[in-house]
Amino acid sequence: ARHFLDRAQAHAGLGAFLAVDPEVTLAQARAADERIAAGDTAPLLGVPVAHKDIFVTRDFPSTAGSRMLAGYRSPFDATVVRKLAEAGAVSLGKLNCDEFAMGSSNENSAFGPVKNPWDPSRIPGGSSGGSAAAVAARLAPAATATDTGGSIRQPAAFCGVTGIKPTYGRASRHGMIAFASSLDQAGPMARSAQDCALLLSAMCGPDPDRDSTSLDRPAEDFGRALGRSIEGLRIGVPREFFGEGLAADVREAIDGALGEYQKLGARLVEISLPRTELSIPVYYVIAPAEASSNLSRFDGVKFGHRARDYTDLLDMYKKTRAEGFGDEVKRRIMIGTYVLSHGYYDAYYLQAQKIRRMVADDFRQAFSQCDVIAGPVAPTVAWKLGEKSGDPLANYLADIFTLPASLAGLPGMSLPCGFGAGGLPVGLQLIADYFAEGALLNAAHAFQ
Ligand code: GLN
Repeated sequence: ARHFLDRAQAHAGLGAFLAVDPEVTLAQARAADERIAAGDTAPLLGVPVAHKDIFVTRDFPSTAGSRMLAGYRSPFDATVVRKLAEAGAVSLGKLNCDEFAMGSSNENSAFGPVKNPWDPSRIPGGSSGGSAAAVAARLAPAATATDTGGSIRQPAAFCGVTGIKPTYGRASRHGMIAFASSLDQAGPMARSAQDCALLLSAMCGPDPDRDSTSLDRPAEDFGRALGRSIEGLRIGVPREFFGEGLAADVREAIDGALGEYQKLGARLVEISLPRTELSIPVYYVIAPAEASSNLSRFDGVKFGHRARDYTDLLDMYKKTRAEGFGDEVKRRIMIGTYVLSHGYYDAYYLQAQKIRRMVADDFRQAFSQCDVIAGPVAPTVAWKLGEKSGDPLANYLADIFTLPASLAGLPGMSLPCGFGAGGLPVGLQLIADYFAEGALLNAAHAFQ
């Protein structure tokens, strides 16, 4: 723990951490040592893990990257954080992220951007940019993250680390500051599929009293699925993931990875996910709609920031929210409120929900022909800081390959598969059927 705390301090310029507290971390490490001495065999005893600042924690402030929650202390730990602590993990602190997990570049954090350790003039990806940068720069051996529309997979790809988003409902959302509740899902980032399996096993499991969408499936040991042969594995390659928007350098790295899989005995099958492009407008209706509702709780009364000067209650709400939220969050609250409003609900929200179902049906069709789906995580490698800030649409379009699995609630992961222009990492995305995290991790492990 001391080693990683020192590294985090030495590389504070990356902007990966929002909160560290060596006293708290070292006290947890000592407690882990005592558990080891007492013969405890919990799977993560003494393993340092850093948490995305979207998970609430008792021992560190929890901000969700927002001025609205600057300095906020939660009276409880998120279920995922608690489960990792029970498994023996030691918390290294809290990691930077886009405000309320809204973004693809980590430039929407109220506390400054995160830099990509491979090239500090570039973004680490988002919204879990702090998690990806911390693992890539070895400031933490592993980190927690969340994925609503790609925020585990895309930053993992841009920073050359491995990350997995499980099936929606596998990990409890209790204590995860809500962005879009029907999409939000927690998962780990680490240096390998093996490490991810270890963490994910500890993070998942039913939580019926605190998250009504948590699935009634027992926790699994995903590590046990690793090491099986992938001879005969049918890998679906979606035609729509290799269109003109895909940069040549990324395509080359992905093609190389698919070739490796063939050498390992896998068989490539061409498949189609015809609603891939529609996933962008569908997601950017549904996610803001849910966000506008979730973020109504930040009114200056119950949590965090409250405007200093105001005349009456309404004025207090207005000033608090005007001061507390950043531009992207305000944009989404406005879009969400609009698409849910009377007269527009049918045209936008309801329509988006119908297409969301069709996206899921496309996957069902695809999984009748293949065991896992492979393709790029993002159309390009990490872009320059500032290159797309101020251009929300350019950011949204870059999510095209991660959104379909999110809308369908399927497990997906990103694993490093080579380098593109400028020696920047490229991530291979693997998507599996519901509850097939074991097979997904095994396919990644075979490649690694
Ligand atoms: N980039 C997407 C967005 O801005 C996804 C973010 C996420 O998965 N949290 O909404």
